[in-house]
Amino acid sequence: MSQRYSRSEEAFDEARALMPGGVNSPVRALKSVGGTPFFAAGGRGSRIVDVNGNIYVDYVGAYGPLVLGHCPERVEFAIRSALENGTAFGAPTEAETRLALLVRQLVPSMEKLRLVNSGTEATMSAIRVARGYTSREKIIKFNGCYHGHADYLLVKAGSGALTFGQPDSAGVPTGSAADTLVADFNNLESVKTLLEANPKQVAYIILEPVPGNMGVIPPLEGFLEGLRQLCDQHGTLLVFDEVMSGFRVHLGGAQALFNVKPDMTCLGKVIGGGLPVGAYGGRADIMGCVAPDGPVYQAGTLSGNPLATAAGIAALEQLSEEGVFDAIVNTTREICEGLTSAAAASNVTVAVQQVGTMFTLFLGASQRITNIDDVGACNFEQFSAYFHGMRDRGINLPPSQYEACFVSAAHDQHDIDGTLDAARSLFSSF
Ligand code: PLP
Repeated sequence: MSQRYSRSEEAFDEARALMPGGVNSPVRALKSVGGTPFFAAGGRGSRIVDVNGNIYVDYVGAYGPLVLGHCPERVEFAIRSALENGTAFGAPTEAETRLALLVRQLVPSMEKLRLVNSGTEATMSAIRVARGYTSREKIIKFNGCYHGHADYLLVKAGSGALTFGQPDSAGVPTGSAADTLVADFNNLESVKTLLEANPKQVAYIILEPVPGNMGVIPPLEGFLEGLRQLCDQHGTLLVFDEVMSGFRVHLGGAQALFNVKPDMTCLGKVIGGGLPVGAYGGRADIMGCVAPDGPVYQAGTLSGNPLATAAGIAALEQLSEEGVFDAIVNTTREICEGLTSAAAASNVTVAVQQVGTMFTLFLGASQRITNIDDVGACNFEQFSAYFHGMRDRGINLPPSQYEACFVSAAHDQHDIDGTLDAARSLFSSF
């Protein structure tokens, strides 16, 4: 047993007896890189502390939400203040309208929206609405894009791209996946083929406009615009899943960065300031289908929860202040440039891809990564060594080549320097 992680190892043994894999979300179990996850004891600013007292510069950021770092003062204060009034009411509150307004100011294509409790709920609900609105059943998603764990979205294509989807998880009825068609990211032809083979049957195309769930992959020039055109031609709705990219690649999400307007948008992560919030919304006529205004049912006991809503408002207000977002993008750029140089100095082949405040270092990639097949060709063994080597040097990275690193407003020059020193020392040992 490693002394450094001894308490985490004990905690992991205990947890595994009670919870599948010892965790409440699979990636936390470190299956793809091996080893024991550290158990978190707390976090402040850019740092997370484990139960052994080891401190790490954190680039996981709770897988995206913590764009201001751990426990930002303003968010903490907002949660404490909301708590004094109560934790749930089952009645609407003015704060929900305030959060909806803030979101609409930042993402104007969301003319109307509804708050939910997670990204999964947002995508599940959005697609029911899209199907209700179009009275069509088929959907198109992209190989490598993750949209939460709803049955019909848990489908990958693999070599079966351009054919009917196969469920990606046991327990997903073949029937639920059969209407899910899978196209290749950054490949408009694959989308066109599916739309033409299924005329007037595709309700919507859903995608991460900047995927983060196969590592950070920017859309190729013209790809998002091309999807918009194809959707218009085929009467198909375009749904941007910006659960991860929202308030991360640009304050207004990928749709603002690339100036392409979707019909519907899903949000999560940052919108809750570290507490559970999601949202879906879009054109007012489409959202008019949602109960009680329309026939598509969707509800939630704790939706618009006062603590989560207060955290979301505080986070979005702070993030919208002049210069805050741009500073995080600059920090991210400095880290990416430094990692690229550190790898080059030791002849380690990498492609570092950044969009806004997210980045991925792809090991073994000598060219730009544009889709899931490119990621599959990376050096996974070296990635495991990179993950563990950085963790042992006090840098916490997401435990998979298929994940994004997240930078926050709390990361400062000291963190950048420490991260690059760790990378230099590690790469020189490869
Ligand atoms: N959509 C995207 C793009 C995501 O990255 C995620 C989660 O990582 C989800 C949906 C699901 O969100 P949640 O985990 O909050 O249910």
